[in-house]
Amino acid sequence: MPLHVHPDIAKLVPYSPGKPLDELERELGIRGAVKLASNENPLGPSPKAIAALGESTETLHLYPDGGAHHLTHALADRLKVSLNQIAVGNGSDEIISLLVKAFVAPGDEAVIADHTFVMYKLAVTGGHGIIKEVPLKNWCHDLPAMAKAITDRTRLVFICNPNNPTGTIVTKDELAAFMANVPDHVIVVFDEAYYEYVRHPQFPDTLQYVRDNRQVAVLRTFSKIYGLAGLRIGYGVTTPEIVDYLHRVRNPFNTNALAQKAAMAALRDEEHVATSRILNESEMEILEGELRDLRLSPIPSQANFLYFDTHRDGHDIFNRLLKEGVIVRHIRGSMIRVTIGQPDENVRFVRALKKVLEESAASN
Ligand SMILES: *Cc1c(COP(=O)(O)O)cnc(C)c1O
Repeated sequence: MPLHVHPDIAKLVPYSPGKPLDELERELGIRGAVKLASNENPLGPSPKAIAALGESTETLHLYPDGGAHHLTHALADRLKVSLNQIAVGNGSDEIISLLVKAFVAPGDEAVIADHTFVMYKLAVTGGHGIIKEVPLKNWCHDLPAMAKAITDRTRLVFICNPNNPTGTIVTKDELAAFMANVPDHVIVVFDEAYYEYVRHPQFPDTLQYVRDNRQVAVLRTFSKIYGLAGLRIGYGVTTPEIVDYLHRVRNPFNTNALAQKAAMAALRDEEHVATSRILNESEMEILEGELRDLRLSPIPSQANFLYFDTHRDGHDIFNRLLKEGVIVRHIRGSMIRVTIGQPDENVRFVRALKKVLEESAASN
């Protein structure tokens, strides 16, 4: 019997997570490889989140709280929105999928940048929607062009802010101009996975659009600065109406009990967040300088990674770095994305990069 698969599904390319650290170490027969590929917090989770996990194990025979009641309360308090404006998900990835499931019917459209987080395309195409890609302009979202790409069939516009992989932002004024023209049948999704790292004074306060009851959804996560990527927990802040629809399409127990507990403890540990932000800022400055000295033109970043131009075959540089025990991310062409790590990890990366750039020059 041949399998019946929808052509939209057949054409999907699975998300490629990259090689796990222990796998690479086994292959190379080395210890102490470094992974700067997935924008995780190099300091790890808050010790308070780890302690909360220990206290939660005795009740693991019970189903989790399907409504993530306590976490929703804590978030509503923190963000100054109502309880019914928050949806908690199995990572903010799940909120992206739920938005698509709830609002994108076959043939409906979503507008995204042509160089952004890959999940939007995966979710929309998998949901039989149509992706309209708008080229970045100077590595930034081109909001006027994205506004022009909106049609009667557009259901979602994804604005990744700061953008992954470029680290660039959309400013308050650019966004205000865009929001003044966006029609009511469109939900504007702000993916703010790196929100806590942003230092730019012109970064927009998108939660104000939520409080003003605009048709928007703000996505945030515990995977990045909070250091809980392995637990899978994130959330969306949006209108009560949209939250209601998201609840209809989610699994009843979409987030696990340990993740909920750890997220609450992590949210309270503001010191860990501050320490993580300060480390990122100072290490980013050093790494940016190193990359500039190597004439690799890093794009100024508001997140916890740098995107730079190797001016060579990026895939080749990526592979050569792997052999040096350094995992980064090759996205396309000559560009590579590197996560800001701990000081010793960044030093390792720069040393390996200098070596492979010389090797690649010699082999040409
Ligand atoms: C890492 C990341 C996420 C977070 O995904 P989770 O599912 O919460 O782990 C979301 N959006 C972007 C742009 C990211 O880079």
